[in-house]
Amino acid sequence: MTAPSTPTTISRSTLESVLDGTVIGPDDSGYDNARAVFSGAIDRRPALIARVANATDVAHVVSFARDGGLELAVRSGGHSGAGHGVTEGGIVLDLSGMRALEIDVKGRTAWAETGLTAGEYTDAAGAHGLATGFGDAGSVGIGGITLGGGAGFLVRKHGLTIDDLLAAELVTADGELVRADAGTNPDLFWAIRGGGGNFGVATRFQFRLHEVGTIVGGMLLLPATPEVITAFVAEAESAPEELSTIVNVMPAPPMPFVPEEHHGRLVVMATLAYAGPEDAGESAIAPFRALAEPVADLVRPMPYPELYPPEDPDFHPIASIRTMFLDGVDLRAAKAIVEHLQAATSPMAVTQLRVLGGAVARVPADATAFAHRERRIIANVAAMYGRPEEASTYMPWVDGLAGALDQGDESAYVGFLADEGEARVRAAYPGPTWDRLAAVKARYDPTNLFRLNQNVPPAG
Ligand SMILES: Cc1cc2nc3c(=O)[nH]c(=O)nc-3n(C[C@H](O)[C@H](O)[C@H](O)COP(=O)(O)OP(=O)(O)OC[C@H]3O[C@@H](n4cnc5c(N)ncnc54)[C@H](O)[C@@H]3O)c2cc1C
Repeated sequence: MTAPSTPTTISRSTLESVLDGTVIGPDDSGYDNARAVFSGAIDRRPALIARVANATDVAHVVSFARDGGLELAVRSGGHSGAGHGVTEGGIVLDLSGMRALEIDVKGRTAWAETGLTAGEYTDAAGAHGLATGFGDAGSVGIGGITLGGGAGFLVRKHGLTIDDLLAAELVTADGELVRADAGTNPDLFWAIRGGGGNFGVATRFQFRLHEVGTIVGGMLLLPATPEVITAFVAEAESAPEELSTIVNVMPAPPMPFVPEEHHGRLVVMATLAYAGPEDAGESAIAPFRALAEPVADLVRPMPYPELYPPEDPDFHPIASIRTMFLDGVDLRAAKAIVEHLQAATSPMAVTQLRVLGGAVARVPADATAFAHRERRIIANVAAMYGRPEEASTYMPWVDGLAGALDQGDESAYVGFLADEGEARVRAAYPGPTWDRLAAVKARYDPTNLFRLNQNVPPAG
């Protein structure tokens, strides 16, 4: 599976001569590390990996891939569940060397290069008591999460990440660096807020920052009975918008803060984040604490960045996942979650529930390419296991629980899609959104150079 040596050698030197960044090939010692992405199921061998240093480098790599007919993978944090951050035989444009961040504390905005992770951005902004909302993992790249939408710990209070996106700079398929904002290339600005990497390589984003200093938040573990799950979701829906929650129903991990007798027993492992005054936060969280005797309660006033704990860089999980939207979690659905999780045979199985609403739902559906503004809950069902070949063993369990939860809504959030084919990508872009995205794609990427992604082919 190695790329032909002569063309690659010539191409490599050509590329190296024009880049400020570095090029890594199969014979280099750092190659295996450089081609690895977050998902442990992905094992692809690109011909070259270009670690770009600036927007000019990006333009060179885009032109190089286009003119050489190479498959192009664009990578920010490498967390795509579909493994779109690496190609077999093509070229990877790796943005991880571009991590500049300029924070305008007074103006409450930031320009961020897209090689930054959510955790790095959050730490730097947090030093000023400011934040832009990303997701629930600090290691996710701001490139991918922003272009998909971005739902995390501030989602109900401040909306999706794209709701704080003020402008972006992108290198399009013709190698041009363009700006997109409400007044400049507004069609492109609409498309990149949810439409993923289809339209160009984003080199920088300008975000709005919010005053989010100390929050009341952290982890709350409750026993996972159907009654607790249903009541938790209902509380999360009726809670003040300052409170966002992410729930994982899963076996309790053997961590020091979990009493030993609970290890391996099903728990509602929730992260809560109340972005507002401490007293009001304690009142908002009280109903959750009252649902059952907590297995562990780590909720407390804390600086917002502490919601992102350090992660193991060598963690490369292998998982099968199904994502969907739900309108609610009644007792029947909660029973299905508990029964399926209890019967799971994979080494780890989890159902994640994220209540939306609040600021997300106030943005009109046609204002951004993320159009699922009225959806109430994102649900993810996942099985994790040791070897990629085991997917066929555990996927039926994932499909079984996803089927039991199915409320007849085919739609999906693009950020959680795996490699599931065009129908599922269409499910991310309902109604006129797909056609509008395809028209913007035809304008900015008529030959579909940016196709290793949740792809929207160009119209016509
Ligand atoms: C552990 C984990 C936790 C997650 N939690 C959340 C969450 O809480 N909320 C949420 O909304 N999502 C979440 N996600 C989903 C995540 O947002 C997407 O997988 C996202 O695409 C990852 O971005 P990345 O830059 O790390 O990935 P990459 O694999 O680097 O990029 C994914 C794709 O995005 C595009 N892309 C990335 N950067 C650029 C760029 N600069 N220009 C153009 N295209 C680009 C490319 O098409 C690329 O293939 C999570 C994923 C994981 C694995």
